[in-house]
Amino acid sequence: MDCCGHAHTPAYQPAIWRMGLAPVGALLAGEVGPRGSTEAARTAETASAALDVLRKSISVDVHTHGGKSGITSKAPPSDDLANAMRAGSLAVACLADVPDSPILGRNPEGSLAVVRTPEPGQLYRHHLERLAWMDDLVASHGVRRALCTADLDAAHKAGQPAIVADVEGLDFLDGKLERLEEAHQRGIRHLQLVHYTPNDIGDFQTGAITHQGLTAFGGEVIQACHRLGFVCDVAHATEAMAKQAVKLATKPLLLSHTAVSGSRAMGPTPLTGRQISPDHARAIADTGGSVGIWHFFPSLDKYVDGLKEMAEMVGVEHVSIGTDQFDARGCVEDYTQWVHLVAAMLRGGFTAEEAGKIAGGNYMRIFRAAVG
Ligand SMILES: [Zn+2]
Ligand SMILES: [Zn+2]
Repeated sequence: MDCCGHAHTPAYQPAIWRMGLAPVGALLAGEVGPRGSTEAARTAETASAALDVLRKSISVDVHTHGGKSGITSKAPPSDDLANAMRAGSLAVACLADVPDSPILGRNPEGSLAVVRTPEPGQLYRHHLERLAWMDDLVASHGVRRALCTADLDAAHKAGQPAIVADVEGLDFLDGKLERLEEAHQRGIRHLQLVHYTPNDIGDFQTGAITHQGLTAFGGEVIQACHRLGFVCDVAHATEAMAKQAVKLATKPLLLSHTAVSGSRAMGPTPLTGRQISPDHARAIADTGGSVGIWHFFPSLDKYVDGLKEMAEMVGVEHVSIGTDQFDARGCVEDYTQWVHLVAAMLRGGFTAEEAGKIAGGNYMRIFRAAVG
């Protein structure tokens, strides 16, 4: 099959989410309850129901860096991501390069912040270097890069893990809109407007307010995202910026990783500045969009509670999973946990249809409208 001008190679690896036996075994081995017990039988039952969800619908982590050996690590590309995705039956990872990572560090409160000034062109060079890393990952390490919805469908059918190339923060633009076209040509299909570095697009949640929301240039960037075909992600944007983006947007917006303000499921956390109000979440939902919930919860069951907190506010059509997996923190430390998370969603009371929407269907709706 051919799509977007490139040929798909047939997968030689077993199509895990079509066969499904290995993850059920893993669930039985890794979950509560000894083999043969009622608890183990129940676990096996939800495991097989979770696999059924992952077989029927395309599941997506809407914001990730690919874990410890991923794109934000110093490690060269490896098979780790593809292997974990296969083991946990995750179909698609939105894998985000972080252009401003060379200038970020931990502030005294333990949160990420800008700690040094970039040299001219440094963040653009870093971004290009990370794109080369991604090219190598796709060329030699068992994941496909999806450029359109048909690519995602084909990868899921073939049982091969796929990535949507993503960028967290447009700090590589240096005011040059034409770099968005270059990003599209390099295979990127998902862009997050702001991160931790002050830029000329808009205000971010953990920084000083300098623009009162979205700038005129930020508005042009959103229009360019729509025109070129990128998923437009307003994670990290202030509520004012997000609401101004909502007014301008003519396609569904994504807010890929956060949690409800004061989330009881998260408990005390240094991430409160990155949580969002019910109003903020509803504004995103009103575009036909979705709000991704990150994985910074003490357990998978608490993660499911975090998904419920958002679903109660905006409805299951507008909630996604955006783990923000970048190091060892979080309850989905690697993707072998993905099927366990879906099983926890079913155990926690979501129907199979609802779990399918949250685990990927809602992102697919946004991707189809934004990218085609
Ligand atoms: Zn982030
Ligand atoms: Zn991130």
